[in-house]
Amino acid sequence: MADLQATLDSIYADIQPRIGEGKVADYIPELAKVDPKQFGMAIVTVDGKVYRVGDADTAFSIQSISKVFMLTLALGKVGEGLWKRVGREPSGSAFNSIVQLEHESGIPRNPFINAGAIAVSDVVMAGHAPREAIGELLRFVRYLADDESITIDDKVARSETQTGYRNFALANFMRAYRNLDHPVDHVLGVYFHQCALSMTCEQLARAGLFLAARGSNPTTGHSVVSPKRARRINALMLTCGHYDGSGDFAYHVGLPGKSGVGGGIFAVAPGIASIAVWSPGLNKVGNSQLGAAALEMLAARTGWSVFGD
Ligand code: GLN
Repeated sequence: MADLQATLDSIYADIQPRIGEGKVADYIPELAKVDPKQFGMAIVTVDGKVYRVGDADTAFSIQSISKVFMLTLALGKVGEGLWKRVGREPSGSAFNSIVQLEHESGIPRNPFINAGAIAVSDVVMAGHAPREAIGELLRFVRYLADDESITIDDKVARSETQTGYRNFALANFMRAYRNLDHPVDHVLGVYFHQCALSMTCEQLARAGLFLAARGSNPTTGHSVVSPKRARRINALMLTCGHYDGSGDFAYHVGLPGKSGVGGGIFAVAPGIASIAVWSPGLNKVGNSQLGAAALEMLAARTGWSVFGD
């Protein structure tokens, strides 16, 4: 993979004239302040090599990408029992949609839409005070990335708490259906802090490397989940990781991935590498416009795909 840096450089050159495209998420005031003219990308291969380009060392709000880490924690706690609380089907709706919750008795469609992630946070909170659950997630992500400098941006968490009306609606709705065991404000406190995890592309690619390497991080030697669980988390990312843009992402990129409204996308080339890309401007469904474009270029130029050569 000697020419992987050259591939990244060529992607950066093609992206550069477009930097600033898309629209920064403005429903979270703190995210609205982020300069849209940024782009970074990092790849960590399963043999531990790191490739970077652009603003790969600038920390950004990973937002919904955190749902992958929280899901991993929840599966570790309750195993397959988690699926009593949340489904595994693509939603075909916006990330913050409430409509399906009523049709499906308060059981969210999948763990990667907001309602599903709020239910997953509730599961991780069992037996914990909210701040302990947040601490557990932070420790887990630091352990995965082997990087103690990763933090949570309290300003972002506070900004979301003040303006997260839709998330309060979703959580109240689920609580009414008894699909939340803890008080709504406690669960959302955990949820908003997980979304406010602040990481660089390189940290994110390192943290998710276990999903590219049969559940173990080859750079640290840490065994995180079984190979089967890693495959299943990847399956969920492929089918549900980009909300109602999931089909389009599978079609154009062909790799499991998870987006966040901070403009990050995490993607996995199983057996090969984990990839993180960040550019704050979003497309209509709330996924990074240039991030998705860059991943499409990467898949085309390397041939990486879960669907064949
Ligand atoms: N914190 C955001 C929210 O709850 C996460 C959404 C996202 O990244 N798609 O609205």
